[in-house]
Amino acid sequence: MSVKISESPAMPYLQAENVGKMYGDTRVLNGISFSLERGKCLALLGPSGCGKSTLLNILAGLLPADEGKVLLDGKVIEDAATGLSLPAQKRRFSVVFQDLSLWPHMTVAENVAFGLEYLGLGNEEKHRRVDEALKRVEIFPLRHRHPITLSGGQQQRVAIARAIVVEPSVLLMDEPLAALDANLRETMRDEIAGLIRRLNITTIYVTHDHTEALTIAHQVAVMKEGSIEQIAEPRKIYDEPATTFVASFLGSANAFLYSYEMEALRNSSGELLFPPRPAGNWHLLVRREHVRIIPVSQADEFPIEDLIQWKATCVKNTFSGERYEVQAVTPKGEVFRGFTREPLPLDHPVLVEFDPRQVMLVEK
Ligand code: ADP
Repeated sequence: MSVKISESPAMPYLQAENVGKMYGDTRVLNGISFSLERGKCLALLGPSGCGKSTLLNILAGLLPADEGKVLLDGKVIEDAATGLSLPAQKRRFSVVFQDLSLWPHMTVAENVAFGLEYLGLGNEEKHRRVDEALKRVEIFPLRHRHPITLSGGQQQRVAIARAIVVEPSVLLMDEPLAALDANLRETMRDEIAGLIRRLNITTIYVTHDHTEALTIAHQVAVMKEGSIEQIAEPRKIYDEPATTFVASFLGSANAFLYSYEMEALRNSSGELLFPPRPAGNWHLLVRREHVRIIPVSQADEFPIEDLIQWKATCVKNTFSGERYEVQAVTPKGEVFRGFTREPLPLDHPVLVEFDPRQVMLVEK
């Protein structure tokens, strides 16, 4: 008998195995599983009400799981089957909330030191840790200021310093940018992405904003109605959405039902354009960048061979700075989003063009 030696993947640091949660008769989490390496960031991404905060609270030990297990560094810290639930303070998870919760009457240094209150450290050790945390997030020169005198971004750093000063096993961030205005949110998004990489702290980042999740996290879990639809690196989530929900939530790809008519389409050499349609409700996905939407009058006289060209009507034109995001609907009701340099006339006939070789097939 031969023993297969597989490549050893990095040890998972934080793991969830089949975590489930009910509120009364309502199921809010269903079979949640993931594993995250030490020092990496996982974003929980999904619309409001999909269970992100409930999952965060279970990980933090603030809410018991009804099913499944949570492991930290190989040790079980939550197990619904045995009722084991390591108390929150013993997990040493730090949370940064949306409202930051800074004390206005305390200086920056005092706010950060507050995180150490319950650790029973001597004064010298406390000072050393506070200074180090302030330096790590690069706000040491602001240590004597009060939060009200700081910019939104600086306040955010104070909240992060207070969270990391306890040297947490895991940093949990719950929609930390949701309350900021659009400009600051964009700056802070890039800052937090940089900080997380530099600090090397295992982080769970909850957000409903896909750009935030894709920018900040190493892994993104897209959630819908209490389940994880897809978990993968940001690039893969964007380029290869596993379900129509992921594609539409990220706005990255157009999804349409794989119909009988399409199954029969053939190219100029008589070969089928798409692989045979498996049983069930399959959808085709085509990324927005791969769709060309043009006025019918501008159609090429000799289009590239085997391109799919469908008639549609332009229903929306949105100027986004560098380009127009256009939406067109086919007579069958399929909605296509694409980009153009010039706006297209609304309610006018257009052609939707895409290459069948760039189409992905997904089951739901
Ligand atoms: P998200 O953070 O993704 O917005 P939540 O985890 O807050 O979602 O909520 C998931 C679902 O659980 C929602 O339908 C919400 O209404 C429900 N829920 C949250 N907390 C409670 C509670 N204490 N009792 C009953 N239902 C709750």
